[in-house]
Amino acid sequence: MVLSRVGSVLLILLSLMSFGLVYALNANEKDEKPAFVTSVVNQILQAGIIPAPVKDDQTLVVSSSVAPIASDADPLHQAINAAIFKRVEERDGQLRRILVIGRGETLTTRLVMAGISRTEILATLEALRPHINPRKIRDGQEVAVLFARDGGQERYTGLELHDGFTVVTIARTGVNGAANNFQAALKIIAPEKRRFAMRGAVKDSLYDSCIKIGVPASILATMIKTYSYNIDFQRDVKDGDRFEVLYEQLADAEGRTTGEATLIYAALQVEGKIVPIYRVATSGNGYEYFDAKGESIRKGLLRTPLEGARITSGFGMRMHPIMGYNRMHKGIDFGAPSGTPIYAAGAGIIEEAQRKSGYGFYIRVRHNGKVSTAYAHMSRFGRGMTRGTRVAQGDVIGYVGSTGESTGPHLHYEVLVDNDQVNPIGVNVAMGASLGGKQLASFQDWRNKVHTQFEQLVASASDPRLAQNDKR
Ligand SMILES: [Zn+2]
Repeated sequence: MVLSRVGSVLLILLSLMSFGLVYALNANEKDEKPAFVTSVVNQILQAGIIPAPVKDDQTLVVSSSVAPIASDADPLHQAINAAIFKRVEERDGQLRRILVIGRGETLTTRLVMAGISRTEILATLEALRPHINPRKIRDGQEVAVLFARDGGQERYTGLELHDGFTVVTIARTGVNGAANNFQAALKIIAPEKRRFAMRGAVKDSLYDSCIKIGVPASILATMIKTYSYNIDFQRDVKDGDRFEVLYEQLADAEGRTTGEATLIYAALQVEGKIVPIYRVATSGNGYEYFDAKGESIRKGLLRTPLEGARITSGFGMRMHPIMGYNRMHKGIDFGAPSGTPIYAAGAGIIEEAQRKSGYGFYIRVRHNGKVSTAYAHMSRFGRGMTRGTRVAQGDVIGYVGSTGESTGPHLHYEVLVDNDQVNPIGVNVAMGASLGGKQLASFQDWRNKVHTQFEQLVASASDPRLAQNDKR
């Protein structure tokens, strides 16, 4: 019994030596002995399994019936497995011993440690090589080494590892993996929606500070667009101001992301005041950002949908000086040079973009169920501005001109409530929604959860980017 144990130990020590050799062949740093070997030996010694130091002149009796290292048959093997593998899982009758490649290690060195034979390792690497360069397998990479139970022993059947969103499986071929040949199979895994939480302070610019800690550019663009209703970034945001960002994106377990990111929550400290925004789904497939009180961040319509303009004709009855009759002017005229860009007064969908008799080139934007704005006499439409296009407040929808019944370049601008023109001046058209009653209560409840989740993610992530799954 003792002898066979000593035999096992010696076999393992031999393995360790061969490991060292393989290591030396594989690695460039020949003098550096991997700390891992020492750690395994120490664990064996600490386990009290080796009865006495093995002397140089002692005859080595190596039994050929010693079980492979990857077996938990006795305390010795258990100790070794505990040192080599991070954990063990059992799935579909197959043992999956999970190892993590350490600094300065290669997959080969680890497989040698795991007691896999040289022939099997070479065959495995050969099957792996067309898909992943084994030498490029980096620190921290997890590899599942697969074993089938074979009587009291375990038989190596292959391995499995992730390469981005691809799972590469190397499996022994033949019935029940009986042949000594290995084949690779690739499987693409669908990434899951995950949340990422980030917090930082402004230095030089909000943009640079966010990008530096990994906030995706698209998230930053959404933030800037949304905050632009309340904040002048040039003037209001200063060095040392803090920001928080919580967003959602498809990602794998290791935080590799894909596809579009969605901003869930952000907060900006501006002049000592925290200004948060929260994404709330609205009817249809839409969404809107709300403040902490449940009011839309979006402000009303732009008072002046173009720059450098002056009002040349107001809304209301207009007496023709010569003809002497009254005519209702149902909009406001802004005099401006031909070609001046015209902005969408609010976010919405273009419901009309055409040449419309006296209006000339005309665009009407629907902002919500009640309110639309119209723009007439344009020289031309903005790029891509056709019926059905979604626009944001401030998007250039067209350019000042004098098409239709017009005596000179100007913008005829109308605000319509329930399809009737109203006087934009002095009428505060409420654009953004505001939550009330049950909606407000449920928003407040969700808002608190968002803050809790944000704090948890920031606290738990060793890499602040790594977030847990969204279980909401
Ligand atoms: Zn007009």
